[in-house]
Amino acid sequence: MTQTYTPDRPLRVAVIGSGPSGIFATEALLKQTDLPAQVDVYDRLPTPYGLVRYGVAPDHLTIKSVTRGFEKTLGDPRVRFLGNVEFGTDLTHEDALSHYDAVLYTVGASSDRRLGIPGEDLTGSMSATEFVAWYNGHPDAAAREMVLNASGVAVVGVGNVALDVSRILVKTAQELHESDIAAHALTALDASHVQDVWVLGRRGPAQAAFTTKELREFGELHAAEPVVKPEEIALSEAEEAAITDNTKKKNVEVLRDFAARETEGKARRVHLRFLTSPVEILDDGQGRVGGLKVERNRLDENGNAVGTGEFEVLPVQMVLRSVGYRGVALPGVPFDEKRGVIANDEGRVTGRVGEYTAGWIKRGPSGVVGTNRKDATDTVAHLLTDAKDGRLPGAAHPTREAVDALLAGKGVQVYSFHDWQVLDAHELAEGQAQGRPRAKVVHRELMLGHRKS
Ligand code: NAP
Repeated sequence: MTQTYTPDRPLRVAVIGSGPSGIFATEALLKQTDLPAQVDVYDRLPTPYGLVRYGVAPDHLTIKSVTRGFEKTLGDPRVRFLGNVEFGTDLTHEDALSHYDAVLYTVGASSDRRLGIPGEDLTGSMSATEFVAWYNGHPDAAAREMVLNASGVAVVGVGNVALDVSRILVKTAQELHESDIAAHALTALDASHVQDVWVLGRRGPAQAAFTTKELREFGELHAAEPVVKPEEIALSEAEEAAITDNTKKKNVEVLRDFAARETEGKARRVHLRFLTSPVEILDDGQGRVGGLKVERNRLDENGNAVGTGEFEVLPVQMVLRSVGYRGVALPGVPFDEKRGVIANDEGRVTGRVGEYTAGWIKRGPSGVVGTNRKDATDTVAHLLTDAKDGRLPGAAHPTREAVDALLAGKGVQVYSFHDWQVLDAHELAEGQAQGRPRAKVVHRELMLGHRKS
């Protein structure tokens, strides 16, 4: 029998993951008027907003203002936020299919890509993802002891994440105080000995993935200045003419400006290097990073980096690889291992009826927060078409009460949107008392203690 959706029996959707793509998908389901819909948004953490809270740089507060719209969406009576619920255990794949007409996976990309060079597992070598999670107070990383006794740090990759971690490493405590960085990270960074950060692009300045606004920030820091080698950003006339992308053109202009500057003698330097690939992370003899061997590259006719056989060792004691995030498979959901995404056709999970995906776990880790709005809306359009055409199998237990009973039966301590509002108000008030935008609670148990009474 084809299911019809009414205000009494609305289309029931589970959104797995409350980052930008999950919230934008929810917003798209609320905005349409063809079908009455009810959405439960799940997150394995008590807190919503995913990478907006735990990925966006703590000093980029304006990007985080997108949460004002997110609050409206989660506060809508047709929506519930169910935080602290792990998909795969607390809510299994079978549970989701039996309680919802459609399930939409928006879990992002929580892991990272590796370099595949010797020495990558030495102490002091880690992914930028781990470092970002630590300074942003992600509960899984907050307890990590981060040793910041390096005077030299190499950051591999020239995307915006590489610029974020480099900037945070060289900002002063006073600059960081104005951000919502986690208190443990502020203390550790204040005591850090970092003097030189090398940001390494394997190709040329015209191929760098970062954006100009983020690049310019290196020219405006209190205690750090950018250093650029003119010979590494020199372009032939043909190479110059081949730059069609406006951002890349502006990047090259800013890099030229940096290269032409006289040194200001600031205590910290950020060396923006190009045509340079890491080949080996060197052991200091005690299992820690003792240097980074790099090779100079040239570009071949296809714009790919090719080694020249010229090597150099950078005096670093810490290496952060920032060469892209990678998605992680969800239990019971088809996964494309090669691409690190859920196998899907324009957001419809391959070989499945009533299962969908959006955001980084659908298309890979690219684009800014806003990119996920269209991506999520496109997936929701397919979901709605399938619902209207009677192609969804229909849930066996299509009520909120059935979900509550299921989770209560498993002893899950669900953290609601109202609970989050209590924690949010607490963090803002604590922050205000300290003259900071927010003081994040970073331990899961402490978070769960802030609840609507
Ligand atoms: P990304 O933009 O894809 O950059 C990855 C970088 O790693 C590229 O420079 C890439 O160089 C390099 N790379 C890959 N494999 C490498 C290897 N084996 N050796 C050396 N370099 C290698 O990734 P991301 O920085 O993680 O950012 C992810 C997304 O989030 C991006 O869309 C980014 O713009 C966005 N984001 C935005 C902001 C913001 O708006 N402020 C902040 C953070 C992140 P090739 O080009 O040569 O492959």
